[in-house]
Formats: sequence, C-alpha cells, structure tokens
Amino acid sequence: MTRFKKNPTSAAMAIFLYFAVGALLAAAAQPPRNIVLIGWDGAQRDHVKEMIARNELPNLVALSKEGAMVDIDVVSGATDTKAGWTQLLTGYAPEKTGVYSNSRYQPIPAGYSVFERVEKHFGDDNIETRAMIGKKGHVDNDPPTTIPYEKWEKQQKKQKALDKKKAGLGNIPGGVITEENGVKVVKVPGKPWYNASQNMDLFVNGLQLNDKVGEMALKNLEECKDKRFLFFIHFAEPDHAGHQHGENSQEYTDALKSDDEWTGKIVAKLKELGIYDKTLVYVIVDHGFNEGESGHRYAPYVFCATNDKAVNRNGTREDIAATVLKRFGLDLTKIEPKLDGIPLDEPAPERKAPAENPGAAPGMKAKAKKAKNKTGVASTKKG
Ligand SMILES: [Zn+2]
Repeated sequence: MTRFKKNPTSAAMAIFLYFAVGALLAAAAQPPRNIVLIGWDGAQRDHVKEMIARNELPNLVALSKEGAMVDIDVVSGATDTKAGWTQLLTGYAPEKTGVYSNSRYQPIPAGYSVFERVEKHFGDDNIETRAMIGKKGHVDNDPPTTIPYEKWEKQQKKQKALDKKKAGLGNIPGGVITEENGVKVVKVPGKPWYNASQNMDLFVNGLQLNDKVGEMALKNLEECKDKRFLFFIHFAEPDHAGHQHGENSQEYTDALKSDDEWTGKIVAKLKELGIYDKTLVYVIVDHGFNEGESGHRYAPYVFCATNDKAVNRNGTREDIAATVLKRFGLDLTKIEPKLDGIPLDEPAPERKAPAENPGAAPGMKAKAKKAKNKTGVASTKKG
C-alpha cells in the first residue's frame, strides 16, 4: 500500500487540515451517489510505480492522495483480458463465472455483474449503468452462434497452441458439436458480456483509441450529471502498445501517460459538473505485462488507485467488485452465489500471486523488474 504524504507547512495549515479532515470524514461516511471505474488495460504495476517516481502520472497520484493506491494481485484465472475484467466486475473466481481465460469462457451467468446487481438494487430507472470500452475482442458481448465444424476445429488448434501455458486453463470446452441437416456444426457460447450487457443502459466496445473512449466518457458524464450512475471507462492503448512494442518501450510508457491524462480529464469533468464529491473513482487493471516482453502470459501484478478514503489494504481482482457493491449499499451477505472478493476496507487474509505460474510448465516465472530498456521479445499473443 502506498500512501502519499501531504506536507503541512505551518500551524495555520495544520488547523485548516484539522477541520478539512473532519469535514471529509463526515463526507466519507455518506454512501457515494456515483461510482466511476476507469480501466487501464495491461498496466504493469512496477512500470507504473517507476513512472510515478518520475512524476509522469500526476493524475493517478492526485487521485491516490485523496484515498489510496494499493497492490492488487491476480490469484485465480488467467492474467488476460477476458478473465481480468470478468473477475474485477463480478467479484468471482473463474469457477463461478465460467470465464477462465481468453479462450476458455462462456457468457457470465445473468445477474452476476456489478452492473446488473446495482440495477436490481436501485431499480432500472434509478441508476445509469454505462460502459465505454476500448477493446473489441475479450470485453465483448456477441451472442451464442453456430459455426461449421472445420472452422471451429481450426480455431481450437490455434487457441490451444497459444494458451496451454496459462493459469486457469484446463480442457477447452469451446462449444457443443452437433449436426444440423446432416452437416457437422458447433454451437459456440456467447462472449462473456452477452448477458450482462442486455441489462445495462449502455455497452459500447471496440472504440480502440483512448481519445475516442475519453470523449465518449465526458459526453456521457454530462448526460448523467443529475442521475445516479455506475460507469466503466476502459482504456486499451497500453495493452496494444505493450503487445506491439514491448513493456519497456517508450510507446508503452506513452500509452500509460495517455491513460493518466484521460483519468485527469474525467476527474476534472466530475468537478466541473459539481458531482465529484458524490463520486468514488477507482482506477483498476486486468493484468500486467511480463517484464521486458510483449505478452502477459503470467503477469499477476497490478494495482488499484482511488479517492475512496476507506480503502486500506492490498487485495486481489475479486475484491474490486465487492468494494463497489458495498459502497452502493448492497448487503453482501445476501448475494448469491457468495462473492469470492472482500471489500478493500475489510480485513482479509493476505493473498499474493505466486512467483511462478501455478497452472503452467516449469520456468514460467513472473520476473521482477530489473533492467530498463530491454528489447521486447516478439510474440503473437494478443488480448
Ligand atoms: Zn493483452
């Protein structure tokens, strides 16, 4: 857990802080009206901390100074996009959602996402749930479909070759083989967000560029300023840059700077609209990057930065959803099935990601950050 120090310079400042903190604590006791989840897809924790040390992420630091920045480890499910956002936004281990990795998945069971839970809790008309997503694949909501067997077989072979070393991956179910009019076909499950997106007020993916995601977010915040809302604003550029140029590239650093700038603009917009004091903002991350490489086969080290003053410990991906639901006033003991996550203001057993991928062949280590400016190793893996 990283706390950023404030430096009072005089007695007057100390007195001011005494009253200011008192007011803030009173405000913190009120449940928030709104929550904004800002996704930094593929942001490696060590890389982000080095950028913080160089003052390259001022908006992330400003947000954390109001609340906290804590370490988040991935302890179940693959360190990839489908498993990551599913876990962050449901609070469940993959066994409960059926979303283990980019290649082993099904639609998240209806009702399991934070969006559906708050819609049900407040009533459809009393909360806006809106998602603006940079990624096309892996944060997707395509319906179930039927494809020719040959096409399916080809896809499966490709996926198996790519994913056999990932955590959480067992036999790939991938689809049900059947016959239609004497032709062998495969019924393929829908994508993870197929069910959830049907009960949300907005689900747009494939925006690709941070600027497109950010502009849409600002417009939607304006539209919702007088309503209660839960937003998911997902920036994909660091993941794309990491795959193309490697984790130690300038391009990856620049993409994270873009995430930070947009995080700042979102906070500024909330302030301009006069709703920042009613809004909790969490910057959350699905997976990191293998040190110096251009993939994230085993990259379990990420973080959460927030203006939520109550957040007080490190945690795991599942803890984010539990925190969001608790802040909105849901009784977590009544949620079925039981959440695997624990709110980040409640004590929990320490769960750290093992240094070595538990589901993989020997030698798949999560390397610590040492040298800088190493050349990225070529990889075809995406997502
Ligand atoms: Zn990726």
